[in-house]
Amino acid sequence: MAGRVLGVSAAATVLMAPLAGAEPDRIPNGPYVTPNQTVRIDSFMTYDELTSRLHRLDQRSDLLEVESIGVSGEGRDLWLAKVGDPSKTPVMIINQQHGDEPHGAEASLDIIRGLVSGVGSSILDELYVLVVPRVNVDGAEVQPETGVPERGNTDYDAPRLRSARGFFTTELGDLELWSYDVNRYHYATPEQSSFLNWKDSLSYDFDPVAWPENPVPEALAVLDTYFEYGPIWVVDVHNQGHHVVNPDPDDDPEFFRDGWRTTGGILWSLNENTHPAAIELSKQLAVTMKLASLQYGHMEITRYDSTSGFEGIARNAYSLYGTERIVNGEEGPLGGSLLVEIEGQTEGNLNSLLGQKRSGLLQQNVINLLWSVLGATADGSLFEVDAGLADTILVDDANDQNPHLDE
Ligand SMILES: [Zn+2]
Repeated sequence: MAGRVLGVSAAATVLMAPLAGAEPDRIPNGPYVTPNQTVRIDSFMTYDELTSRLHRLDQRSDLLEVESIGVSGEGRDLWLAKVGDPSKTPVMIINQQHGDEPHGAEASLDIIRGLVSGVGSSILDELYVLVVPRVNVDGAEVQPETGVPERGNTDYDAPRLRSARGFFTTELGDLELWSYDVNRYHYATPEQSSFLNWKDSLSYDFDPVAWPENPVPEALAVLDTYFEYGPIWVVDVHNQGHHVVNPDPDDDPEFFRDGWRTTGGILWSLNENTHPAAIELSKQLAVTMKLASLQYGHMEITRYDSTSGFEGIARNAYSLYGTERIVNGEEGPLGGSLLVEIEGQTEGNLNSLLGQKRSGLLQQNVINLLWSVLGATADGSLFEVDAGLADTILVDDANDQNPHLDE
């Protein structure tokens, strides 16, 4: 999601101003944040809470192993939860690369709890489930300067945003403090991949002396995990802003429910070097999620609105690493990679969260989507899905702003 940062004080000013323009011709099923509502984010786990919950689960179950896969810039361990038998087929779920996008972390704790308590016993008969509940552990903390979590990784030695040099950074408030956008730095080491590594990055190309190595420890930890276990797919959970479904008259009304809120956007690799088999598996994940969403009244899935094939983005990167494995003769299916964007990110603006009343429902969206692909992978139905259906999934291009906010 592109960073559009609106400070809390600016939001408050907007809220007091009269609403400009005509009434929207329809107000989708909310609930939106209203002008007098206090938005709270204390229902989301702090790092300490995340750590203690993971370790409590670890102590209670032989099915789960929690380990540190790296250390963040501020010195926090990055946790990996490994569920099940390492001899089974590995799959991987990562969450909260952007610190202000919290629902995936919350949902994945629920998935881990379900798996170790027997809900997913048939899943663990087939799969080894690897979960990084929270990649950007530093950004996810409430930042003292802004009072909200931060998108970037809070390494303020980072250069300011300059995409032509490969500097993909994000500003804390409007404080001229820039830190790395973790989800632009999925460049392996040259030892890990000859197909895509840091030497292919714009920063290395710009100045190999100043930028000899990938500077983002959080991305490197995810990469290390990927190359150690070789999952057949990676699902990467984020949050996005607000959209409604806006189908054409000839679109299937049961597949796209006119006027419904989009609760999630999904997208696969758009990098032109991705192997067709990796694209196919990614689209099978997408279609599985879309079909699952139709079973629930509280979900509506569309295609995330991006055309970027940029290789540093996880959605593209992990299908490219899968492509390398396919080319090297590894037996498939593999190379699946899917972005999931759930509605309701904070984006430095508590009012874009839709409020804590909706938070549980959004979290439940992620839980349902993740169970759907875990179940389908385990029972093999994933590999029978018509990947071509993914191309019929509508783009969530109908931007729907909170009618209580004039922005
Ligand atoms: Zn994001």
